[in-house]
Amino acid sequence: SARQVWAEVDDWAAQALLPADPVLEATLEASTAAGLPAIAVSPLQGAFLQVLARTVDARLVVEVGTLGGYSTTWLARGVAGDGRVVTIEYSPRHADVARVNLARAGLLEKVDVRLGDATEALPALADELGDERADLVFLDADKANLPTYVEWAIRLVRRGGLVVVDNVVRGGGVVDPSRDDADVQGVRAMLEALRDEPRLDATVLQTVGAKGYDGVLVGIRTDVRDPD
Ligand code: SAM
Repeated sequence: SARQVWAEVDDWAAQALLPADPVLEATLEASTAAGLPAIAVSPLQGAFLQVLARTVDARLVVEVGTLGGYSTTWLARGVAGDGRVVTIEYSPRHADVARVNLARAGLLEKVDVRLGDATEALPALADELGDERADLVFLDADKANLPTYVEWAIRLVRRGGLVVVDNVVRGGGVVDPSRDDADVQGVRAMLEALRDEPRLDATVLQTVGAKGYDGVLVGIRTDVRDPD
C-alpha cells in the first residue's frame, strides 16, 4: 500500500541520514514503557526541527506539547550554546517522563519543562519574557486551541523567527468544513485567522511518511508591528 511505501522511504532516508542514537531511542522506549501514546514526531521530522532551530540560530525555543520530550530533545540539540527550550505540557505524567528523558539526554540544563495548560502558560510566559523573544515556536499540543496558540506564538517570536505547527492536514480531513472534529475545526480556525495576517508569512507543506498523511505549517514573523 502507499502507506507502506511512505514508511519504507522514511526508514531508508533515516538510515542514511540519521546515525543510530541511543539517547533518542531510550527516550522513545521509556515513553512507551510509561504508557505514553506513540504520537511523537518521526525521526526525520525531529531532524527537520533541528535544522530549523539552527537556521534561525535559536537561543530560545518555545514548544507547546512536550509528551515524553522526544521533539524537545531534537530542538534542544539545535539551540546555540547557551540557548534554551521552554516546553509546555499539561499532563503531569507526561512532564515527569519528559524530565527523566531529558536528564538522561544531559539536556535538563537547557530545557525548562513547564506544567500547565498552554492557554494559560503562553500568556504567563509572554509576561515573564517581557521584551525577550523566541527564535522558534513549535506548536504540537491540542489542535482545538490553535487559533489562540498561534496568536501567542506570533507575539512571542522575534521578527525573522519561525512559527511551526504540526498536524495541520490530518489525512486531508481539514478541507471538510462540516467535519465534527475539534482538531479539524481548530486547524481551520487557525488558517482563517492567518488569512491576511500581516505579522506572519506562512506556508503549509503536506507530508507523508511513517506517520501517514499529514502536514506542517511553517511561518516567518514579518517586520510588521503588533496591532495593539
Ligand atoms: N511534541 C511531542 C513530540 O513530538 O515528541 C509530541 C506532543 S503530543 C502530540 C501532544 C502533547 O500535548 C501531549 O503530551 C498532551 O498532553 C499535550 N497537551 C494537550 N493539550 C494541552 C494543553 N492545552 N496545554 C499543554 N499541553 C497540552
